[in-house]
Amino acid sequence: MNTSAELFALSERYYLPVYRPRRIVLDHGKGSRIWDRDGREYVDFGAGIAVNALGHAHPALVGALTEQAGRLWHTSNVFVSEPTLRLAEELVEASRFAQRVFFCNSGAEANEGAIKLVRKWATAQGRTPDRRVILSFRGSFHGRTLAAVTATAQPKYHEGYEPLPPGFRYSNFNDLAAAEAAMAAGDVCAVLVEPVQGEGGVMPATPGFLQGLRALCDRHEALLVFDEIQCGMGRTGQLFAAHTYDVMPDVITLAKALGSGFPIGAMLVGEKAAEVMQFGAHGTTFGGNPLAAAVARAALRELSSQALLDNVAKQAQAIRDGLAAIDAEFGAFSEIRGRGLMVGAQLRDAHAGKAGEILDRCVEHGLLTLQAGPDVLRFVPALNIGDADIAEGISRLRMAVADFVKS
Ligand SMILES: *Cc1c(COP(=O)(O)O)cnc(C)c1O
Repeated sequence: MNTSAELFALSERYYLPVYRPRRIVLDHGKGSRIWDRDGREYVDFGAGIAVNALGHAHPALVGALTEQAGRLWHTSNVFVSEPTLRLAEELVEASRFAQRVFFCNSGAEANEGAIKLVRKWATAQGRTPDRRVILSFRGSFHGRTLAAVTATAQPKYHEGYEPLPPGFRYSNFNDLAAAEAAMAAGDVCAVLVEPVQGEGGVMPATPGFLQGLRALCDRHEALLVFDEIQCGMGRTGQLFAAHTYDVMPDVITLAKALGSGFPIGAMLVGEKAAEVMQFGAHGTTFGGNPLAAAVARAALRELSSQALLDNVAKQAQAIRDGLAAIDAEFGAFSEIRGRGLMVGAQLRDAHAGKAGEILDRCVEHGLLTLQAGPDVLRFVPALNIGDADIAEGISRLRMAVADFVKS
């Protein structure tokens, strides 16, 4: 048996050092609690980066996975299988706008698909390549493939990867006048936006911004694409952020909570662009395989329940109240923001850049959570998290913040 320190050393030896994981080795989980291999228990407010929307080892997901595992794992898309067909049907129904679905394996792939789809659509409209510009927003995050990372309007993700693919333009988030100016030339074929920016600091769009983008897209004959990879699947309190905001896009991309821990991504396409990608236009080997689809169907059933969506609103308030109390005691946060169970706490100027340090303290006190940049703590727990886990997590956070401000 290796010690955890020895296992951790293996990660440093063998992995490309693109991550800096915390020095624990996680072993198993149940609901919103997780244990490391030394038997220490943690409350999980990070949910594998907003992925484990139903917590760990949810019986319905374990059941769906094991049942499908004994039946059929993979067919490729040269053949069809029922779990994937049913998932497509259920997502189209639930979305209230989509007509067709493309399945893939991750968020970046879903956005890559959307980038290709809007370009293909613009081509079909007779637009020349210089009039196929995609507009995205500063602070966004759309994934790490070359096109998705180019749409990600944050220089730190671009540096060293130039030349980047052309035909992307950036504007300021929540600034409708700037978006209008960026589209004035009529060369924008699509607008790509996260209704709630995740990695970029947990920044919710204002309702007027998304409504305004919808109107601008209609005026300039551009497609509106919502990246709901982090904010979708119930996290804002309705199944889709588009429903929370009551703004219907032409395309929605999903991943993260769609498989609630099993890798799967999807692109949902509405009427305007549903027929644009024809035979041979795009593809994937693994995308939407029956194993992933069986788990995602089980997840979708749970995430669509009104009781679960009510829980999102209830626990979101409990987290905000807890953060407000911690702030009242320690003066830690300058703003608490978000939508539903996607909550960000902006650190006061005195603590700027210290989010990572606070997360280290959280681990010491038995709480796993995330940052969104150096100045924001991010809380994205499972959507079925209960009162006791929220209370315990907040209490551990309080101790972590107390330690941090003392040091
Ligand atoms: C995580 C994320 C992605 C990328 O998803 P991957 O599965 O890591 O490729 C894209 N967009 C948003 C909004 C995300 O949060």
